[in-house]
Amino acid sequence: MNSLLVLAGARVVLPDRILDDGAVLCRDGRLEWVGRTRKRWPKEAQVVDARDHLLAPGFVDLHVHGGNGADFMDGTAAAVRTACRAHARHGTTTLFPTTTTGAPAQIRAMLRACAAVQKAWSAADGARIAGVHLYGPYFAADKVGCHSVEGRREPRPGEYARYFADGLVRIATCAAELPGAQDFYHAARRKRCLVTCGHSNASWPEMVAAFKAGMRHVDHFWCAMSSVPSVRQRLGVPMRGSMAEFVLAEKEMSTEVIADGCHLAPELLRFAWRMKGPQRLCLVTDANRALDLPPGRYRFGPEGDGSWFDSDGRVGWAPNGSLASSVMGMDHMVRVMLRASGAPLHEVVRMASLTPAERVGIDRDTGSLEPGKRADLLLLNRQLKVRRIWLGGSELPP
Ligand SMILES: [Zn+2]
Ligand SMILES: [Zn+2]
Repeated sequence: MNSLLVLAGARVVLPDRILDDGAVLCRDGRLEWVGRTRKRWPKEAQVVDARDHLLAPGFVDLHVHGGNGADFMDGTAAAVRTACRAHARHGTTTLFPTTTTGAPAQIRAMLRACAAVQKAWSAADGARIAGVHLYGPYFAADKVGCHSVEGRREPRPGEYARYFADGLVRIATCAAELPGAQDFYHAARRKRCLVTCGHSNASWPEMVAAFKAGMRHVDHFWCAMSSVPSVRQRLGVPMRGSMAEFVLAEKEMSTEVIADGCHLAPELLRFAWRMKGPQRLCLVTDANRALDLPPGRYRFGPEGDGSWFDSDGRVGWAPNGSLASSVMGMDHMVRVMLRASGAPLHEVVRMASLTPAERVGIDRDTGSLEPGKRADLLLLNRQLKVRRIWLGGSELPP
């Protein structure tokens, strides 16, 4: 690692504005100073000319399954590294490998592989693992989506206590209407997790109970979640509020959107930003193994028995014709969100970096270009294509 690194002359993306002709100075992998470009720098510094570029914080992805042929559920260190490298090339410097539904042994193998890569991590491994998102298997039977149905089940303390044991899990999802959901939420809170409700057909009262138990986030808004009509189908009349109304009404709740241009139309992306604001809305990739691979048929989840889907090169499709997660990186999500939402660039970048970092509680270390944080840096050109990437001050090798 170069102990003194300067990037100068860039448009610097700060959490609340863009700083023109800005620069950063990093020492030993941390940001030491952010401000206007100066004429002189310490002579031992490596100075990168960043004129005509945007300098942004590395992206943070809360919800990601894989990339470049690998799914985290393949359960090997090699697969984990392949996916982390693929996402780094798209600007993600920190991510939370996300489980699918599957057998307990498959989930344990995934956790072991992620722990091994996290422990031995270097910049050549790509995006850093800040924790695991325990996503599957605790989904509602009627909202399993593209995940394998056989791998879905209800939360059992004897099972999830083992997943939580070593503290690697930092995000924990469970459908709020499942028996045992509240015990699961309490256990996840005790482990300092961001607690989330997803793949769920929960009603308003179930969301209120979940909120009391510590749930504060809902996975991929509008996808595999309840609506007034879906709750009516489940519980009859009177019509009840759903996850959507609860998230929009409750200020403390955050959520995320898959802004790949295929899952949600531009007006929904704009609506989500206007309703929740940049401090409660996250961009996620929800990318599967087909990221950076040609169109074709792939497995979602474990290599051996994950469910099949087809990638057309733009998005994944389940055999029944519904969407099966994304095949795009975070750089793409940022470009689509910027176009669709009309939000200012610094707010769109915030939704892909600082906001997710805050929600999981890693914002002291990463998520924005502020002194004291890790030098997780991106240089983007005018088209917002990622040109160079630094992870903790070390440049990602090509
Ligand atoms: Zn999902
Ligand atoms: Zn997903």
